[in-house]
Amino acid sequence: MTDMEFLALTLGGQPSLPTPLPLNNGGRMEHVAEGVLCLAPANEFAPRVLLSAGVHGNETAPVELLDFLVRDILADKVVLGCHLMIQLANPAALRIGERYLDYDMNRLFDGAHRRHGGAREAARAAQLEALSAGFFAQAPAGVARLHLDLHTAIRGSVFERFAICPWLHGAQPDRGQLGWLSGAGIGAVLLHSAPSPTYSYCTSRTSGAVAFTLELGKARPFGHNDLTRFTGIDRAIRRLVAGEAATDPDVPPPRLFRARYDIIKHSEAFVLHLEDSVENFTPLPDGMLIAEDGEHRYVASGGEERILFPNPSVSPGLRAGIVVGPAD
Ligand SMILES: [Zn+2]
Repeated sequence: MTDMEFLALTLGGQPSLPTPLPLNNGGRMEHVAEGVLCLAPANEFAPRVLLSAGVHGNETAPVELLDFLVRDILADKVVLGCHLMIQLANPAALRIGERYLDYDMNRLFDGAHRRHGGAREAARAAQLEALSAGFFAQAPAGVARLHLDLHTAIRGSVFERFAICPWLHGAQPDRGQLGWLSGAGIGAVLLHSAPSPTYSYCTSRTSGAVAFTLELGKARPFGHNDLTRFTGIDRAIRRLVAGEAATDPDVPPPRLFRARYDIIKHSEAFVLHLEDSVENFTPLPDGMLIAEDGEHRYVASGGEERILFPNPSVSPGLRAGIVVGPAD
């Protein structure tokens, strides 16, 4: 078995890697597209797990975690107990360390790429969507399907690690998976209440996967990540890949929040009344004026609401933050 530096080869623009490679347990690894690997054990009925990272090119720590994971599978330090697809989603943006080149890729899934054909991210989102749909479609009926889309955030967070569960069209999130998240050190889960063009919504809706977007800490450039801050999620992912149950009954479940409404920036007159340094999930006192924009006023209500992803510098017409509250 040869060691292979998946990340370095992908970032170096290596067009094709030397695959398929046999794995020691009778499985094989295949390089199916730029930045995309498929690792298959001999057991056709093993669960299907998609791990994506680098949808935003400045969020490098999860990319490094996946690179180490692949190396350790090849070195037989991790036994492959699932069908695993690894996607380094936006290599072009990863190479320059920017969130994106032309358009935010995590607004281009579930077919939204068709409306932004000029953006370089659109073609890539379409390719990833097709690859993941094919990957999950090969699963025999009844086989578990899971997608974790790994991110880090620019801003600090009251809950250092949190998950976003895409809208499930009225269904409840999977309790076992919520337990897995808390075991992975995820302190909070935001339950979305509407469709969105994100990658996790796309695989949830089109492939019936249990899918989450995971925000795992601070975004830093390659070489500047403190990977010790990621050991909980790394361990949980390795247990998942090995096919081991990973729920710990002693760990309390994550706090559940639901999106109440989006703060929309209607015009350049928009003012956000929060400090630039405000963290995600910061509580909003009852009656606080959060933002205003001409006659639009956003006022906190009830004392249990919190702010998520505040960003006053978006273009007019776009979301400048989400107000969330506790879910039942
Ligand atoms: Zn991100």
